[in-house]
Amino acid sequence: MTRLTGFGRTAPRECRLVEPADVAEIARILSTESGPVIARGAGGAYGDAALQTNLTLSTRRLDRLLAFDPTTGIVRAEAGLTLAALLQHATPDGWSVPVLPGTQAVTLGGMAAADVHGKNHPAAGSFGAHVRGLQIVDAQGQVRECAPDSELFGASLGGMGLTGIITQVTLQLERAPWTWWREERLHVETLHDLLAAFDTPAPMQAAWMDGHRAILHRAAPLDRPAPPPGPRWRPSVPVDAPGFLLSRPAIALFNTLRRGTLARSRETTLDRIAFPLDGIANWNRLYGRAGFHQYQCLLPPEPAESALAAVWRAIARAGVKPALAVLKRLGASRSPAWIGFACPGFTLALDFPASARTLRLMDELDAIVADHMGRLYLAKDSRTSPAMLRRLQPEVEHFANWRRATGADRFQSALSQRLAL
Ligand SMILES: Cc1cc2nc3c(=O)[nH]c(=O)nc-3n(C[C@H](O)[C@H](O)[C@H](O)COP(=O)(O)OP(=O)(O)OC[C@H]3O[C@@H](n4cnc5c(N)ncnc54)[C@H](O)[C@@H]3O)c2cc1C
Repeated sequence: MTRLTGFGRTAPRECRLVEPADVAEIARILSTESGPVIARGAGGAYGDAALQTNLTLSTRRLDRLLAFDPTTGIVRAEAGLTLAALLQHATPDGWSVPVLPGTQAVTLGGMAAADVHGKNHPAAGSFGAHVRGLQIVDAQGQVRECAPDSELFGASLGGMGLTGIITQVTLQLERAPWTWWREERLHVETLHDLLAAFDTPAPMQAAWMDGHRAILHRAAPLDRPAPPPGPRWRPSVPVDAPGFLLSRPAIALFNTLRRGTLARSRETTLDRIAFPLDGIANWNRLYGRAGFHQYQCLLPPEPAESALAAVWRAIARAGVKPALAVLKRLGASRSPAWIGFACPGFTLALDFPASARTLRLMDELDAIVADHMGRLYLAKDSRTSPAMLRRLQPEVEHFANWRRATGADRFQSALSQRLAL
C-alpha cells in the first residue's frame, strides 16, 4: 500500500500500487484478479483521477519507444513513455509533438486519457486529433487494438482511464525543426483588450492574469536551429513551504514584480515556452502540506468577457487570491473523444491553496460556469459534485451508461466514484 495523491497533493489515498513490466502482465492481472482498478501515469492530474485503493496500475515501466518512422513521423510507443523522452527521440529528425500541455512530465497514456490541449489549440486541436491507434487492455484482460473509428477509441480519449488500461499509443508527429522562437509579451489592462488581443493569431499564446490585468505571451518559431531539448539543471523546492509564502500580499508582490521585470520580447526555445512551470522542480511543494486545487473551466466565446468578469468578482468577494491564473484560447478539438474537455472558447486555470474558503469559492465558480454554458476539466478536478458535472457536461451520462453496458465500469478511480461515473 502506498499513499498517493494527484499533483495538487490534496485527497491522499492509501492505494495498492502495482508496476507491471509489460502488457502481458497487465492482461494477466486483469484476467485473474477482481475488483476496481485504474491506470496511473506520471501523476500529473491535479486531483483524484489516478487513485484507486483496491488497485492502481502504474505504467512507469512501460516506457519503450517501439517504432519510429522518420520519413512519415508516425511513432508507436508504450503508454508510460513520457513526453520529455518522446521529444528527445523525435526532435533530432525534425519532428515534434503537435500538442504540448504545460509540463513534459506526463505520459502518452495520461495525455490520451485526458485528451490534453496546448497553447496552440486553435491550430492543432487536442491530442486525440493526432492519435492514430491505441492498444488497450479491457476489463476481462483482453488486449484490444483500437482504430480511430472504434467506440473504445472515442470513449478512451478523454475518458480519464475509465475504459481500460492504454498500453500503447500510435501518434502522428508534426514536421517541425527544433529552432529558436521569438516570444513577445503584451501588457493589457482590461478583459476586453485581452480577449481582443487573442484575435491576433500566433503559433503559441497564453495569458498570465492578475485580475483584469494580464500579460499575453505570444510566440512564433524563427528559422535558426536551436540546441535540442534535453535534461537541464533546474532549482528544486526541497521541502513543503510555510503558508505565508502564498498569502495574499506575497502573491500581489510576485505579480507586481513579474509585471515590472519581464522583458517585452526574448528569444527562447519551445520547451521554455510550452513548459514554463518545469523550470522549478517540485514547485507544488510551494503550497505547503495542505496542497492546492487547480480550478480549470472552459467559457464559450460569447459572452466570455462577462463570464470572466463574474469569475473575478466572485474571487474578489471571497477574498482569496489565486497564486496563478492562466487564460488560453481553445478552438475546435478535432478529436473523436466522447467526453473530452476542449472546445471553442477560453479556458481559465486558477491555482488556489487548499482551504474551506477556496472550496466554497469553487462551488460558486461552478455555478457561474454553468450559467454561462461552460465546462470543467476533469484532469484538474478534485471536488465538484455528480449533479454539477451533469449540468456542465450532460454527455457524461451516455459515457457512464456505455461503461455499465460494456463492463468498463470495473475501471474506477476516486474521481469516478465521487462523480458517479
Ligand atoms: C504543471 C502541469 C501543467 C499542466 N498543463 C496542462 C495543459 O496545459 N493542458 C492540459 O490539457 N493538461 C495539462 N495538465 C494536466 C495533464 O496533462 C493531465 O492531467 C495528464 O493526464 C497527466 O498525465 P499523467 O501521465 O501524469 O497521468 P496521471 O495524472 O497519472 O493520470 C491522469 C488520468 O489519465 C489516466 N491514465 C494515465 N495513464 C493511463 C493509461 N496508460 N491508460 C489509461 N488511462 C491512463 C488516469 O487513470 C487518470 O484518469 C498539466 C499538469 C501539470 C502537472
